[in-house]
Amino acid sequence: YSGKKTITTASESMMNLKVKDFQSLPVVVSENMTVYDAIVQLFLEDVGTLFVVDEHSFLQGVLSRKDLLRTSLGTQELTKIPVHIIMTRMPNIAYCKKSDSLIVAAKKLIERQVDSLPVVNETDKGLEIVGRLTKTNITKAFISLAETHDL
Ligand code: ADP
Repeated sequence: YSGKKTITTASESMMNLKVKDFQSLPVVVSENMTVYDAIVQLFLEDVGTLFVVDEHSFLQGVLSRKDLLRTSLGTQELTKIPVHIIMTRMPNIAYCKKSDSLIVAAKKLIERQVDSLPVVNETDKGLEIVGRLTKTNITKAFISLAETHDL
């Protein structure tokens, strides 16, 4: 006996997985950063999505690879356009919290057809970004279940 849990408890463990156990570090840029600098940041940080914050560090928007590519095709002025012009903005941002079930967050990724969710702390004044949850994090969780259960 390997000491690992049986397959009968696999679905139970799946329901117990939390966002906080699989989240990554967020990469954040300011609303006034240029599209050009945001593209540089995307490469330097090796991420697919940047979160955009205001001067109080509250979440204001999301920038995906395709948001940046679309703008690159449409204009020569990448060093002049601030990212707030092209980002997807609040209140249309799908997000999750550290304590959320990973399954619920994964469903949100699929339903909203996005690659990542900001992990936030909800305050009276706005959303503080504390993490980033991506499809890669969900895939890692999937593997961790298989390892826990000897599947
Ligand atoms: P890509 O656009 O590179 O395929 P996504 O599928 O993540 O990457 O993004 C698709 C669109 O949805 C983009 O316009 C992006 O700004 C937006 N988006 C990305 N993540 C979120 C999110 N968590 N909430 C709302 N919109 C998002």
